[in-house]
Amino acid sequence: MARIKARSDQTYLCGDCFEQTTNMKKCRHCDSTNVFPIDLGMVEIVQILNKKGYKTIMCCEGHPTINGKTSHVYPHLIFSKKYPSLELLGGTWDFCANMWRLSWGNNSEPNMRGLDALEAYKVKILDTLKEKVTELPDATE
Ligand SMILES: [Zn+2]
Repeated sequence: MARIKARSDQTYLCGDCFEQTTNMKKCRHCDSTNVFPIDLGMVEIVQILNKKGYKTIMCCEGHPTINGKTSHVYPHLIFSKKYPSLELLGGTWDFCANMWRLSWGNNSEPNMRGLDALEAYKVKILDTLKEKVTELPDATE
């Protein structure tokens, strides 16, 4: 998540206590400096996963654009290892740059038009993902 450029409206998450913070340098909850930018739509998902023992490295909520070169509607999560229990989330694993990426949508884009429709679709995917993450057992592996 360190690759995401900081913006004034950026959301941050503490990598130690997993509380959301607006300060990019220091967590206001535990004073940790292990704070990183995160997409707002992934905050709860990443909090739940890490509290259950699934250590995330990076994530993306998906960023649909119209006529943009980098449109991707689906979210992805990156882990240092492939947790077998996360098969319950559906999605597809792939190994890249020594990390495990879990992504949805098989690198395709949904067949619909208009940014509003794509954004609404993205929110629906994130809601479903949050439900599934909530139901996950704690990581034992
Ligand atoms: Zn903290």
